Amino acid sequence: MRRSILALLIIGFSLPSSVADSAEPKPDAALDGFSAQHARAEREWESKFRALPSSQKQRDYMQLLAARPHHVGSPYDKQNAEWILARFKEWGLEAKIETFKVLFPTPKRRLVELLAPTHYLAKLQEPALAEDPTSNQRDEQLPTYNAYSRDGNVTAPLVYVNYGLPDDYERLQRLGVSVQGAIVIARYGNSWRGMKPKIAAEHGAVGCIIYSDPKDDGYFYGDVFPKGAMRPDQGVQRGSVMDFPSSYPGDPLTPDRGDPNAPAMTASNAPSITKIPTLPISYGDAQPLLAALNGPLAPEEWRGALPIAYHVGPGVAKVHLVVESNWDVKDVNDVIARIPGSSDPDAWVVRGNHHDGWVNGAEDPISAQVALLEEARSFGELLKQGWKPKRTIIYCAWDGEEPMLLGSTAWAETHGRELQEHAAVYINTDGNGRGYLLLEGSHSLEHFMNDVARNIEDPESKLSAFERERLAGIAEAKSEDDRKELRQRSDLRMDALGSGTDYTAFIDHLGVASLNLGYGGEDDGGIYHSIYDDFYWFTHFSDTDFVYGVALSQTIGTAVMRMADADVLPYEFTGLSDTMQKYDKDLQKLLQNKQEEAHEREQELKEGAYRAAIDPRKPTVAPPPEDIPPHLNFAPLENAIETLTKSAESYKAAFNKAESSGFKGSDQQLSALNQKLLQSERRLTDPAGLPRRPWYKHMIYAPGVYTGYAPKTMPGIREAIEQRRWQEADTEIARVAKVLENEAALIDSAAEDLDAFSK
Ligand SMILES: [Zn+2]
Repeated sequence: MRRSILALLIIGFSLPSSVADSAEPKPDAALDGFSAQHARAEREWESKFRALPSSQKQRDYMQLLAARPHHVGSPYDKQNAEWILARFKEWGLEAKIETFKVLFPTPKRRLVELLAPTHYLAKLQEPALAEDPTSNQRDEQLPTYNAYSRDGNVTAPLVYVNYGLPDDYERLQRLGVSVQGAIVIARYGNSWRGMKPKIAAEHGAVGCIIYSDPKDDGYFYGDVFPKGAMRPDQGVQRGSVMDFPSSYPGDPLTPDRGDPNAPAMTASNAPSITKIPTLPISYGDAQPLLAALNGPLAPEEWRGALPIAYHVGPGVAKVHLVVESNWDVKDVNDVIARIPGSSDPDAWVVRGNHHDGWVNGAEDPISAQVALLEEARSFGELLKQGWKPKRTIIYCAWDGEEPMLLGSTAWAETHGRELQEHAAVYINTDGNGRGYLLLEGSHSLEHFMNDVARNIEDPESKLSAFERERLAGIAEAKSEDDRKELRQRSDLRMDALGSGTDYTAFIDHLGVASLNLGYGGEDDGGIYHSIYDDFYWFTHFSDTDFVYGVALSQTIGTAVMRMADADVLPYEFTGLSDTMQKYDKDLQKLLQNKQEEAHEREQELKEGAYRAAIDPRKPTVAPPPEDIPPHLNFAPLENAIETLTKSAESYKAAFNKAESSGFKGSDQQLSALNQKLLQSERRLTDPAGLPRRPWYKHMIYAPGVYTGYAPKTMPGIREAIEQRRWQEADTEIARVAKVLENEAALIDSAAEDLDAFSK
């Protein structure tokens, strides 16, 4: 799966334009982590590399890999895995398939029927289109459904809940509407889709229907497919509704393959399976249902783009919903290729993208799988020419990402101990389009990725990817403060990792420094997880000439080479400490806002302001009073961040000094330092994990329990404040402070080692 990059454009930047970099660096330009002599050689290998990826080959691979439906367990999914394996081998990489057993439900019975006030039987079928040659492969297409929905057969009144998020239910409560015993209809968007049935069930609903409103990815944004790129009226977004953020991703039956004591689960007690039956529908099918609702008019921002008055319900509208799945165990086939390192083989650079799709999956995931393949082929060429990476490079084509990161989680858990010992970085992609470079990842890699982006040419503007994003960020900045930071900060800010794709087990569970990259923002479409995400759509509406596919190969290949070849791993920690300061400020502001809101609510209740504002003909309910949040003690966190900031600065000075004297150390000494450094992200984890979700070990980044895709930073503290658990917030402040102190100690010790290389 892949979220819209549009919503994620990173805005943050540097450098007056007079010193703006050109994309192709001078061969003698310095390179972080390399002695001057090694930097020169590296620059030469990198420019050779960047000339190799081919747009024509990417197009050919996509046409082949997306030719038929290739979901988990399908014959074509297996065939693709074998084809990728054969290519890796042909290009000279050691490669094999690793297979895991996973629970993967597929549809057996699906029904959505409006019983009153009129009758309507939902079609639940995406029609083939004459223009689109792969849309008619019905025998092999997975029907439209939400994987890991519990089986159920319910008849109940219908209620419209907007996006179905916690705030929406507060609003419903004020409208005097309850979903107790109801089937809810929610629109797609604004969260991981699995949040919608989770939150509905918490409010007493018995079923959940999710539809794609044309305001979110349909005609509101442009012509619909096949005339344009947007979602047609019978187009449906398939997708998993697993509740992974509050439990764990991957196979629901094996909570952690790396832990021999993890309890075995069954489909009936696995915590990640939804509590209520859930099914997705098109807006063609949703319109009769929504039109049948009465009750209060929906708040203005809840209204979509269908030609109806949006009511909330409940009322006479009654719906019958049936979901039944075949709960089968299937194989997932991960293709794993390896280039052994020459002088530091025990440090690993890991790169991955999934190969399974919901149907033909051209954009998601093949558009970035083809970039990965071109990186691998180009590395094969360089090896023939004599390139010898110091570190081991591992290329992974994951299976089973769409149902919920099945292949990557199983592999990462199975090899967890080795990965924690050896992995320096995991670099993920999951689809590619046109536009800006998306930067998400561990903040110790923020400066590193900015440097890579400075050396990549944006194929349309011919600026560097870095410079294009920097200038566009200034043009689109929402405030003076944003613009100021964009102009003054030396690097683009990198977004934190949430979840929704294959980096999750690496960063959240194992503490491997991770990146998630891709181009996007100019590739609007409405074919996500439908039968129309195919070669025809992609070559008519997205990166039609595959120039951004080549740019993605160049970007990631350069990052992989640099991490694999550097004398000293190019982590940088002042970007990390700066980000920690920002998170601390955000948290204090969050608490302060909560306090002010509670005070304000108390006062308005006392004054009778709510009562006075109510239209007696459309009565609403005043919100309940809230306890005023107490003050929390942020001192331990602030002290730890101060320590980390000092350590990061001393490290930077020691690093620069050792680099300018050419990292004078033996291979063994350098390798010992690198082994220490690659543990730096692990220091940000705590084996006990986050409260109530021990699988999640990282104390700085996690998917939100009520957001799913979107990250919560310093999640233990933040969610305790959001969910009003004040004592827990204090405990979590101390735990985050502790990991930051551990991080500072490691950085100090690495700085001492570096001092020895300057002598
Ligand atoms: Zn994907």
